Amino acid sequence: MTVLVINSGSSSIKYQLVDPESGEALAVGLVEQIGEGSSHIKHTYRGEKHEFDEPLADHGEGLRYVLNLFDTIGPKLSEAGIKAVGHRVVQGGNHFDSPVLITPEVRDLVEELSPLAPLHNPANLRGIDVARDLLDVPHVAVFDTAFFQTLPEEAARYALNREVADKYGIRRYGAHGTSHQFVSESVTEYVGRTDLKQIVLHLGNGASVSAVVNGKAVDTSMGLTPLEGLVMGTRTGDIDPAAIFHLRRVGGMNVDEIDNLFNKQSGLKGLAGENDMRAVWALAEGGDAHAREGLDIYVHRIVKYIGSYAAVMGGLDVIAFTAGIGENDDLLRTEVVERLKGFGLTLDESQNAIRGDEIRQISTDESSVQVLVVPTNEELAIARAAMEIINK
Ligand code: ADP
Repeated sequence: MTVLVINSGSSSIKYQLVDPESGEALAVGLVEQIGEGSSHIKHTYRGEKHEFDEPLADHGEGLRYVLNLFDTIGPKLSEAGIKAVGHRVVQGGNHFDSPVLITPEVRDLVEELSPLAPLHNPANLRGIDVARDLLDVPHVAVFDTAFFQTLPEEAARYALNREVADKYGIRRYGAHGTSHQFVSESVTEYVGRTDLKQIVLHLGNGASVSAVVNGKAVDTSMGLTPLEGLVMGTRTGDIDPAAIFHLRRVGGMNVDEIDNLFNKQSGLKGLAGENDMRAVWALAEGGDAHAREGLDIYVHRIVKYIGSYAAVMGGLDVIAFTAGIGENDDLLRTEVVERLKGFGLTLDESQNAIRGDEIRQISTDESSVQVLVVPTNEELAIARAAMEIINK
């Protein structure tokens, strides 16, 4: 029994064939540069990576190519017992607080929500449309925003004029919810207690932090879009919105230029010249002052959120680090926890230095807060959600 998980981006399709019970990924792949002349395809099966370059004009051609790879390289989908397709959808607005079976109505709602996520929902929808055409199994949408539908109004509502905010749907929807939910549930299971105040730090190319009390999200750093909050690979995170007025009035930039500046030319890339955290460290270790300052700003923002979320929750039991940087960057974790020493947090340096794909504690037993590294697995979470829906 398997689920094909699809994450369709504007010019890419990422996919995994997952066994939701064992958690095993039977095949993993990626089609990149769709519609850009020559597309690049990677398909990994039984530990062997197969790579191709082919001109694929659109997502339909891309997915057809992938299905052909399943037939020729394996595993054959029919023999792998494919039961459903799970689609990652970035924006579910206030319509979806959990995964749903994709019906024509659901599909149209995802399209209606596109103005709230213009970079993501149309791309997700392309994946949904072609996959529904090509694969005759139930399709399930899993929303990045769903986990944050529990946010109390005081966290979700901006102090923006109520009429304007409601007319245009401007509020905090959050993002990366599938990961925050998966990680906070893993923490609950690992610690063996449900009454926990947790802070989950999802630090990847995109980065977000959430406050979770007794399994429910009470605040998160991403807002109307994934631009708000922490410093990211290429995104500013928090910035005074008046910077936009200033760049418009004084800098003469138009809205698209500012959008591109904030989303694609800022964050670590804008501060240090590199968006990949490993490259930023390499620069900093080589004495590059801008890279070191970029890291300081990155850490400062994380520490600031930890303090504010601990205050919001009235306490703190667990900090969980996850995603590419959170799971792998022991130096970064050290810098964050060092800054919290005054609150009684202490790191177990040898545990922190270990690499692994299991959940583990990196704080000492004396630490006032348990600090964990928790591998995220959004594909598995999507596959399990899809199975749950079709079993209902
Ligand atoms: P995405 O948001 O694209 O899913 P990931 O969760 O894969 O991103 O995280 C990508 C980030 O993780 C990159 O900045 C990369 O440099 C960083 N990363 C991966 N491995 C390491 C490592 N060993 N040390 C530091 N950073 C790492």
